[in-house]
Amino acid sequence: MLIGVDVGGTNLKAGAVTEDGGLLSVSTRPFGRFTGAEDFALRLVQLARDAAEKAGASPGEIRGVGIGVPGAVEDGDILYTVNIPLSRLPLRALFQKYLAVPVALGNDADCAALGEWRCGAGRGCRDFAVITLGTGVGGGLILNGGLYTGGGMAGEVGHMVTHAGGIPCSCGRRGCWERYASATALADRARQEGRLRPDSRLSLLGEGVTAKDVFSAAQAGDDLARSLCGAYAREVAEGIVNLLNVLHLQRIALGGGVCAAPEELLIKPVRDLVHRTCYARRSRQIPEVVRAQLGNRAGIVGAALLGDAGRR
Ligand SMILES: [Zn+2]
Repeated sequence: MLIGVDVGGTNLKAGAVTEDGGLLSVSTRPFGRFTGAEDFALRLVQLARDAAEKAGASPGEIRGVGIGVPGAVEDGDILYTVNIPLSRLPLRALFQKYLAVPVALGNDADCAALGEWRCGAGRGCRDFAVITLGTGVGGGLILNGGLYTGGGMAGEVGHMVTHAGGIPCSCGRRGCWERYASATALADRARQEGRLRPDSRLSLLGEGVTAKDVFSAAQAGDDLARSLCGAYAREVAEGIVNLLNVLHLQRIALGGGVCAAPEELLIKPVRDLVHRTCYARRSRQIPEVVRAQLGNRAGIVGAALLGDAGRR
C-alpha cells in the first residue's frame, strides 16, 4: 500500500492508495499554525499513519510515501512555497526520521498531472497536461510517456506572458497568464465591472463576489456574467494555444474549482477557440481539451504514485 500526502495552504490530506491508483481512505486536518519544521514533518507522519489505519493497514504495510507541495522542490527539499511558511525545508529527511520508508517529494501540480494521467482524464496519452485554474494557474506536464518536472521547476505555465506589459505579477513580470486566467482574475474582473453595472446580480454581491458566482449568474442569464465568462474563456484559451503550439500535446485537462462550471460556459468555448486557432488545427491529431476527472483526489493519488515511482 502507498500513501499520498497533499500539502495545501488550508488543509493537509493523506490517503492510502493501491498500486494501481485506487483510493482506499483519506485523512484530513487543517494546516493550522506552523510551529517549526520538525513538528510539521511529524504532523504529516501522523496523518500518513492515520490514513493507513483507516484503510485497515498497519504502518509496517506502507511501501512508499509521496508528498505533493505547492511550490518548488529539489532532491527531497522544499525550496520555496508561496503563501505558506515551508521554504528551505528538508522535508524528506525529516519525514524519514519518524517513518523509515521510501519518500518522494514533488510539486502539487506535477502530482495532479501524474494522478490524472495514470487514473483519470489523461489515461492512454503519451503527451498530456493538467492545467489548474485556481488562485493562480498551475500546470503539470506528461511528455514522452513520463512526468516532466525539469528537476522540480518546470510547468510554471501561469507565468508565461499572454499580455505583454499587462497587469504586474508576483513573479516580477507583467501580463502573466494567471493574472487573466485564474479564478482570482475572474472574480477581480467581476468585482470591478459589477460596480459599474447595477443591473447585474454581480453588483449585489459586491466585494465578496467569487468566480463560482459569475458562472451561476451566467447560467441564470445575467448579461454581465455571460460576457465575463466569454472573455474568461478567451483568456484561458490564449494560454492553452501557446502551450499546444510549443508542445503539441494530445490532450489538455482543465482542473480547479471553476471547471465544475457547466460545460457550455467554460470547457466548450475554450475547446472551440483552441480548435479554431491552434497551429495544429489542420493536423489529423487535433489536441483535445477536456475536464479533469479526479477533482481534489488527483493530488493524493498522484503523490502516492510519485512515491511508488521513486521507490523503483
Ligand atoms: Zn508571473
